[in-house]
Amino acid sequence: MDQPLTENAQIVKVQLGILVHLQEQDEKINYRRNQMKNLKGKIEAEDERLREQRDVLDGRKRELEQLRKERHGVELSFKEKQALIQKLGGQLFEVKTNEAYNALASEIKQHKQENSLLEERALEMMMAEDDLLAGIAQAEKALAEEEQRGAALKDEIQREISRWEKEIEDLQTQWKSSSQEVKPVYLERYCRLRDAKGGRAVVKIENDVCDGCRMAIRPQAVIELQKYRELLCCDNCARILYVE
Ligand SMILES: [Zn+2]
Repeated sequence: MDQPLTENAQIVKVQLGILVHLQEQDEKINYRRNQMKNLKGKIEAEDERLREQRDVLDGRKRELEQLRKERHGVELSFKEKQALIQKLGGQLFEVKTNEAYNALASEIKQHKQENSLLEERALEMMMAEDDLLAGIAQAEKALAEEEQRGAALKDEIQREISRWEKEIEDLQTQWKSSSQEVKPVYLERYCRLRDAKGGRAVVKIENDVCDGCRMAIRPQAVIELQKYRELLCCDNCARILYVE
């Protein structure tokens, strides 16, 4: 173990060191990708929140539209009845008998009562419309403020995303440059393991245990590893092993 390393072992050791370095770079890249993903999630949540607020406002506007339509219907009925009352009023002077006169007068009275209810109803509806309109104006103002705040927040998040993006690009450039110093067969093995094992392809042996899968490593394997004849993998999880 304390013997000096052969030339080949020196090379393997350096290669292993570069793989560990590549993995650190990959971890940094991953961390930044996750940050970006979280930030994009925040933008989506913000958009969703504003969309919901807009939907509520649209619902109130439709309610107002409906109420107005109903009131116009009530007002139309009122006008028609008003015309009828006028017409019947004119006929009062043409009837010949008391009986007919009383019947017609009673009919007019009935129509007038009904119209008074219609008038009351139209007034109530108008007041309800006013309330609704005031609520809509308030909600519109609040939404405009929220949209402005949301746009500022999204700008800020977008700037942060751009910063992470730039850092990822730089890290990728560094990664590529470092990777050119690794034997293609090692690099290929590293990349394959990294993609298959959720990012961790090179793991430490600590207290004779693989840091990737927590299984014990044979003491003989640890001795072999320190001779750096070749890259050594965990028997259990296949990750490339190293000792500090
Ligand atoms: Zn393992």
